[in-house]
Amino acid sequence: MTEICEVCHREFNSLSRRTICDACYERIVRNMELGPEGICPVCGNPSGTTRFGRRKKYCSDECYKIGHMVCTRRYSLLHHDWLQQRRKERRKKKKIRLLRGRSRIDDIAMLGKILEKSYGEMSAILRQRAARDGISLDIALAAVVHERGISR
Ligand SMILES: [Zn+2]
Ligand SMILES: [Zn+2]
Repeated sequence: MTEICEVCHREFNSLSRRTICDACYERIVRNMELGPEGICPVCGNPSGTTRFGRRKKYCSDECYKIGHMVCTRRYSLLHHDWLQQRRKERRKKKKIRLLRGRSRIDDIAMLGKILEKSYGEMSAILRQRAARDGISLDIALAAVVHERGISR
């Protein structure tokens, strides 16, 4: 999509609705890092001072807005990989949680509630069952759930 650069007013090919051309973007970033104090990094005019005598960064609200946009774009570029990585990790964690599902304690408690047993009674029943059949507690649990036709 063709846009007009907000800074140099030249046409440029805009990606993801950018309003500043790459050349201006790079120049502003460089000015922000290396430019002399008291000079607006966006337009190169003297940025002046505040009422309190402090040097302002930008000469005008207009340049402030553009400068802010450049900072945002720079930040998202710098952090793009990191953000993506974090998103991926979060997705992975969620998947693990889903795979693992509920804990065994939850399952025993739930089964006990359905069969009107306390948690202690229910786990004793399951332990007995596991010992009798020579199976693990998890399998005993699954077996009881299956026998009783309880859907989880
Ligand atoms: Zn430009
Ligand atoms: Zn300016």
